[in-house]
Amino acid sequence: MLVDAHVHVVDFLQDRLTPAAFARKLADAGVDRAVVCGLPVKKKWPLNEPRKPGYYLDGNAPCQYYSLTDELVASLHAELPDDLGSRVAPTMCGFDPTDRLAIEHVELVWSRHDTWRGIGEVMLRHDDLTNLTRGENPCADHLALDPVFDFAAEREVPIAIHHDSSSPGRPGEHEYVDQLAGMLRRHPRTAVVWCHAGVSRRVEPQDQGKVVADLLEQHPRLHVDLSWALLDHILDDGRLVPRWRELVVAHPDRFVCGSDIVGPHSDWKAEVARLAQLLDDLPSAARQAVAGENALRLWWQE
Ligand SMILES: [Zn+2]
Repeated sequence: MLVDAHVHVVDFLQDRLTPAAFARKLADAGVDRAVVCGLPVKKKWPLNEPRKPGYYLDGNAPCQYYSLTDELVASLHAELPDDLGSRVAPTMCGFDPTDRLAIEHVELVWSRHDTWRGIGEVMLRHDDLTNLTRGENPCADHLALDPVFDFAAEREVPIAIHHDSSSPGRPGEHEYVDQLAGMLRRHPRTAVVWCHAGVSRRVEPQDQGKVVADLLEQHPRLHVDLSWALLDHILDDGRLVPRWRELVVAHPDRFVCGSDIVGPHSDWKAEVARLAQLLDDLPSAARQAVAGENALRLWWQE
């Protein structure tokens, strides 16, 4: 059983996987169930950029919040055949996490469909994406997020967040971890999934295993998703580095794994192959927990 806990069905232009392509790629990648979401922002193509962007890092144009993303996810899910739909957990993310009215938007979108199984991936600190997104910079302990975290706790669903450990200029200093810890202290009942453990493209924190170990000890509802840029740091020649193997084996019920694919052009199969290396390196009980059981408990309440 492999549950991919981190799938974006749209890219940064909000181009989405068709239901047929989604079904084909999921089967091709060997994924049994998937937690799917959109992306909360869309890249603009302004007059001063000669080439159409394909990714948020293409050109200097800004990104803006794009709440339609959740409707794209909901409609994709509705178009899947029933036997596949029940194996897909849609989550919603299309709001500005610095807006104190965000909770009203979350409530509205949630009430429009009975398919939602969680919130996320909420983009908080995200190196270049933060710099390119219009408006106030988000952070994990923003007051606007308190009612959203309460909402997740009341409905017993998880909230997945991207929150860098530090800024690219101070990768080893973990300058933003306290903001995450503060939010976790304020919301001990909320199940939180920290996507790629605060590691980002330009943020390569030093000794991140220790930071994660401390946070897991202090916050029993915190989980970590093993995905994307984090894998470059914890996989060495296809094997888990000892520090991270120890960490996962010590807390097997606190990790999930995800491909973090982005829309129709990602190579889902290749990302899952990396996850397979990681999972193969775990003892069997831990492997089953990380590959599937933890995600089933979090997003399917199974
Ligand atoms: Zn992601």
